[in-house]
Amino acid sequence: MDADLLLSGGILLPDATSAPIRDGAVAIRDGVIVDIGAAETVAARVQARRVLDCTGQAMMPGLVDTHIHTCQQMARGLADDINVLDWLTRIVAVEGAMDEEDVSISAKAACLEMIKSGTTGFIEACGNPFYIDAMGEAIAESGLRGIMTRSTMELAEPDWSAPDPFVMDAESNLRATRELIEKWHGSADGRISAWCGWRQQWNLSDELLVAVVGIAREYGVGLHGHLATRRYGQIELLDQLGVLGPDMVFAHSIRYTARDRQLIKLNGVNIDHNPGASMHGAYGSAPMGCFPEMVEDGINVCLGCDGAANGNTLDMFQVMRLAATVHKEMRLDAVAISPQDAFKMATSNGAKAAMWPDSGTLKVGNKADVIAVNLMQPHLMPAYNVLNNLVYCASGQDVVTTIVAGRVLMENREVTTFDEARVLSDLQARGEALVQRLPEATFTARS
Ligand SMILES: [Zn+2]
Repeated sequence: MDADLLLSGGILLPDATSAPIRDGAVAIRDGVIVDIGAAETVAARVQARRVLDCTGQAMMPGLVDTHIHTCQQMARGLADDINVLDWLTRIVAVEGAMDEEDVSISAKAACLEMIKSGTTGFIEACGNPFYIDAMGEAIAESGLRGIMTRSTMELAEPDWSAPDPFVMDAESNLRATRELIEKWHGSADGRISAWCGWRQQWNLSDELLVAVVGIAREYGVGLHGHLATRRYGQIELLDQLGVLGPDMVFAHSIRYTARDRQLIKLNGVNIDHNPGASMHGAYGSAPMGCFPEMVEDGINVCLGCDGAANGNTLDMFQVMRLAATVHKEMRLDAVAISPQDAFKMATSNGAKAAMWPDSGTLKVGNKADVIAVNLMQPHLMPAYNVLNNLVYCASGQDVVTTIVAGRVLMENREVTTFDEARVLSDLQARGEALVQRLPEATFTARS
């Protein structure tokens, strides 16, 4: 059979549990995996137009980040070492002051960091509702698989007094949500989805919340938002409103009771865990969260970086390592979350949450969302147990090739869809101008 591209010669990890194949190969045609297995066997069956030699590398599914604020890429370093309400006050001011070009550059820079660290798909946490198209255009240009959401905010934040520029009436929110889905869902050859979203559940009246979920169900799209970040009781409230379902992905998800966990399990709700952002901002996901229990319960737990202003890095390898270690330390239990669990959270669980049933693992018929990691480095050898090394020792810097839907977005660490130097210099220049425009009180005031 013919193939467009063959990755060959590396250690193949098709998913979290299959035995690695030491000298493996993946054949891709029209964006889909058409053959996979031992290199010798695949070579006998496939005539490829192009071969990428992956000797000394691990070939694995691309990582899926289920919670990322692309707008906050421009805010990296602007809100470190402050508590969450002060952090929110500052970041909302920064996001509110961004213009269309800022949103575009910030999203491009976020996509660039994801491509360079092996993330092939992501869920936007809640985009700037004024310039949502700029974000969509950046994702389209990046070549990544992405889910767009917008901040649905009808009610101002109850916990601080700063004005929120994204608050608008219910009707405007509902209209803009429909427009987002109709314009973007299924675009860029199906790489881009558009979902419903909220910043926080308490930013919506119950009526608006039910209406937004109704739109998600009407269009068959998902819903993503922050939940159980600072309060208990939100899952029970959503249950009372009759809206819980497997098309929901809730970020942070720290404050849950045993009853909440039952409702999450019963309704197939997806739970996004952001250990890096939590450890940076002291949100409490290790001491107060119940992630090992949710994994044990069979709840679909996935992983996210959150954003450059609180998770600091968009490197999902670092997040995998944190997910696989922080709960061990907290519980004094070295088997609290296994490296296989963490790998699964960052790949197939993320793809399931994102409603990409044919991504997240490498098998025939799946979308060719594949990365290759250079193992021939001191910190990754010896490679007795490659999966453990990838979770405990690797970083995004070790990724050499990133492929989405069969398209090579990075080869030998050269990104093909963006001019990296240009995006980074634009990010710095626009960021400096943005900071200049903000009142000084943005960086001194406390909520
Ligand atoms: Zn977030």
